[in-house]
Amino acid sequence: MPDTADLLRLENLQVHFPIQGGLFDRIAGRPAGAVRAVDGIDLNVRRGEIVALVGESGSGKTTVGRAITKLAQPTGGRLLFDGLDMTSVRSLSALRPYRHRVQMVFQDAYQALNPRHTVFDIVAEPLRSLRLVNNGTQLTKRVSEALAAAGLNPPNDFFSRFPHELSGGQRQRVVIAGALAVRPGLIVADEPVSMLDVSIRAQILQVLVDLRDKHNMALLFITHDLPLAWLIADRIAVLYLGKIVEIGSADDITFNPRHPYTVALRNATPQIGGNAGRAELPTLQGEVPSAARVPNGCRFHPRCPLAFDRCKVEEPPAIEVGPQHLSACWLAAPFDPVIPPAIPGLPARP
Ligand code: SF4
Repeated sequence: MPDTADLLRLENLQVHFPIQGGLFDRIAGRPAGAVRAVDGIDLNVRRGEIVALVGESGSGKTTVGRAITKLAQPTGGRLLFDGLDMTSVRSLSALRPYRHRVQMVFQDAYQALNPRHTVFDIVAEPLRSLRLVNNGTQLTKRVSEALAAAGLNPPNDFFSRFPHELSGGQRQRVVIAGALAVRPGLIVADEPVSMLDVSIRAQILQVLVDLRDKHNMALLFITHDLPLAWLIADRIAVLYLGKIVEIGSADDITFNPRHPYTVALRNATPQIGGNAGRAELPTLQGEVPSAARVPNGCRFHPRCPLAFDRCKVEEPPAIEVGPQHLSACWLAAPFDPVIPPAIPGLPARP
């Protein structure tokens, strides 16, 4: 029996890209290796739920989104949607119903919109290509509804406009309208507001939350911005070098992080709750290492101020540190509802 509570389920999902070795490597018979962009992710998204995937550049979060929308092919694990295994599905005819139900919103709205098409044609395009309408009247109605839901009112005023005639916020709303027009069950939004002014960001986030509330649509919100994730999401998954290192409710991850990487991300965002109660940890140094050279043991150990010998040889499992709250760190003590454990260097649980 499929688990119908989860709309999307990723089980040990992997996306590796092979590296072509040089001539000498081939002569010597040395293995060419691979970029392990996504390296074994377990994640579920329920109907009507907003889950944020948070991580730095190079953490693999965009590749996760591309794998879910079938723009990148998984090399291992499983991708289940509504109980159906979509991992190996590749043919266009088999993907058509999936593309109807899973839509992606990209970061750069200007790149995502065809500059030679009007707003009407851009929003109508997926309805036509997926053959979801029977006539022009239905098409106009669906385009109008999508533009209105994305906050472009009155919709008729935008029908004949071109992308260069719109502001940045309006362009992103057109991208969202294009995704909405097909009435998907899940939208994967990859940094949808990172290129917009702060004042416009709040409006676009409100559009996404309204869609969830009105249509029970699920949203996977991909971002590098922890405060933004907290604002919009029910749960947050923190990604580091192709793996989820911590997952839990938005409040737990933001205000009670149990993984040093999440603590460092939080410390890098001074606007959340001031500085009171913060762990005395330095903020992150350096960048995420290349996914072609994933370190042994805990992959965060080269940047972790709390690393000890075991971290360099053994990868920590996901440990339950609270209700629905998992942390992949040797210092994350199992959840004890009676005596909250004290973890050196990490904030005490209230
Ligand atoms: Fe740091 Fe070790 Fe925990 Fe990894 S397992 S986050 S290196 S303390």
